[in-house]
Formats: sequence, structure tokens, C-alpha cells
Amino acid sequence: MKKWIDRLAQGKSLDDNILSDLLTCNDADILSYLHQQARETSLTIFGNSVYIRGLIEVSNCCRNDCYYCGIRKSNTLVERYRLTKEDILDCCATGYNLGFRTFVLQGGEDRALSISVLTDIVTSIRNQYPDCAITLSLGEMSRHDYQTLYDAGANRYLLRHETYDEKHYSLLHPYEMSFSHRINSLKALREIGFQTGTGIMVGSPGQTVEHLIQDIRFIESFKPQMVGIGPFIPHSQTPFASEQPGSIEQTLTLISIFRLMLPHALIPSTTALASLSKDGRERGILAGANVVMPNLSPTNIRKNYSLYNNKASLGAESAEGLKLLKDQLQRIDYTISYSRGDFH
Ligand code: SAH
Repeated sequence: MKKWIDRLAQGKSLDDNILSDLLTCNDADILSYLHQQARETSLTIFGNSVYIRGLIEVSNCCRNDCYYCGIRKSNTLVERYRLTKEDILDCCATGYNLGFRTFVLQGGEDRALSISVLTDIVTSIRNQYPDCAITLSLGEMSRHDYQTLYDAGANRYLLRHETYDEKHYSLLHPYEMSFSHRINSLKALREIGFQTGTGIMVGSPGQTVEHLIQDIRFIESFKPQMVGIGPFIPHSQTPFASEQPGSIEQTLTLISIFRLMLPHALIPSTTALASLSKDGRERGILAGANVVMPNLSPTNIRKNYSLYNNKASLGAESAEGLKLLKDQLQRIDYTISYSRGDFH
């Protein structure tokens, strides 16, 4: 197995059966070799520093009804909120003073955040923070709207494809949502010039090793600049309430595979990973991740942006907890990089 890991580290592609063995491997020695190779790749390219991105959860109103997501429109128990432009600019000001140079605006597909409202917000952030990167993660839009936001000054866009298997996609989403529309949205983002991120939830209901191999093949050929990989975590007010969470080990394996496959990619150690396990964030970094996204949202609304149960938003997962994050990173010999951290 180690020789296959070496091949991956040399930039070679692995056959499906080898990927399958790797994805199901639970031999501690082999996994630790995989993580070590991935970590060394990260260290060579990025050194021992981790980029920080300030996450602003702009709205939990959503027109979609994704079966896994806690803020799906059918969840009537969610207290809905939408930040105003002033709220968002306040978050940016707080973040800027703490040292953040990337703001990530994430939210549901909220009709009230129309393209003119969003353009106004992006334009204001761009004018006030010319040295910062603006990342959006607001779901699917028309190519025209993506272009408008890019022209207003947004630089990056995160849109996980969730699964590259069309049947599996329809098991996770209602009929109105289309796999091909999601993939076409990603292609449009890339063509427009956004640094584009995609990814999956590990262990989403119905996911098989074959599906994961399809995801790997897609990411291998699409070559996104960012890859977001986190475990699926059930939310009690969704149809998947009684499903099991995804495996931390398999999440780490995938992080390492993508680090070796796309050495320059920006790969976050995700909030979902940190929410499932106390040392999840550190383990993600030690498996090759090089980004963390502390929460910059106003503290009173964080509980309402509940994509899954027990989602971490305080402590080292929060922007105000940067000192804690610094200490955690220091314990594993890493530091925070305050640079914008664009893809090179
Ligand atoms: N509306 C945006 C942002 C969605 S939230 C969009 O459609 O892209 C960001 C990511 O959170 C999703 O892409 C999904 O992969 C992840 N997510 C949602 N529910 C989750 C759950 N129950 N467990 C783990 N991750 C989840």
C-alpha cells in the first residue's frame, strides 16, 4: 500500500481498486504513512502555517430542501434571520482588526438576497477592504449573476458538488434540484475566473466507496483551487435525523488523498470535523489541510445557522477565539498565516 501512496505523492493517478483499498483501509500504520506524506507535501509548499478565513453566515433562509441540511426550507423550527449590509460590514471590521484578510459570505439560497442586494454588499466590502479576498458560498445562481458578483469584486466561490453520482445526488436532494445544474454552476464559476472550491460530505446517507471514487475522479479532473471535505453529521429536524455521522478516519484519508493529488489546493480542516471530534481540526491539519475558517458571524445568530447538530461555533472555532486557535496550532507546531492566501 505504501508504494501506492508514494505513487500518489509523485503525481500519478491510482486505479479504482487501489483507491478503494485506501478508502477502506484501517491499518493505523498505513494511514499514518498517508497522512505523513500529505503533511510533508503541505509543509513543502505552505510551510507550517495555516490560512485563516473569517466565515460570515449571512442568512439561514433557504428556498431549497436538501434532506441533510438543518436550515432546509421544510424545517419550520428554525428561527430565520438575514444579516443586513451594515451587520456584514461590522463583521468585516471586527475580522479585519483581528487580522483576517479573507471574508467568506455563506448562506442559504435566500431570495431576499437578490443579485442587486448582494452586489451592493460585495461592492461595499471591496471598496472598504481592497486588500482582502471575498469568498462567496451562496449556492446556485445563473451565470449572469455569478459574473455580476465577480465584476463587483468577489474572488472565490465555494460550491460543493456533494456527490458526483447522479442517483446518489437525487437521494440527497428533492426532485427540483438537479445534479447537472450544480455541476454546470461550478463550470460557470471556473470559466468566469473565480477561484473555485468544491467538495463533499463524507458518509452522507447512501454513499458508497464507488461514489467516493467518482468524487475523486471528478476532483482530479476539475482541479478546483479549494476542496472542502467534512463528515456528514445528522440534524434532528431533517429526514436524515437517525442516520449515522460520517467517519473521521475516512474524512482524513480523503483530505490526504486530495493534498497529494492537488498539492497546491487550499483544503480546510472543516468545522464539521472539529464538531465531531475534539482534536478534529488538528487532525485535519496533520493530514494535509492548510486552511481554517473561524466563525465571524454575530454571536447571537450562530445557533440559528445550524446545518447539523452540535455544530461548533465558539472557542477556537470562532474569530474571537483566535488566541485559542493559535495555542491549539502551536501544540502541533503550526502557526496562523495572516496573508490573503490566494491559490498559486
Ligand atoms: N447554500 C450553500 C451553502 C450550503 S452550507 C450551498 O448550497 O452551497 C455549506 C455546506 O455544508 C454544504 O455544501 C454541505 O456540504 C455542508 N452541510 C450541510 N448539511 C450538513 C450536514 N448535515 N452535515 C455535514 N455537512 C453539511
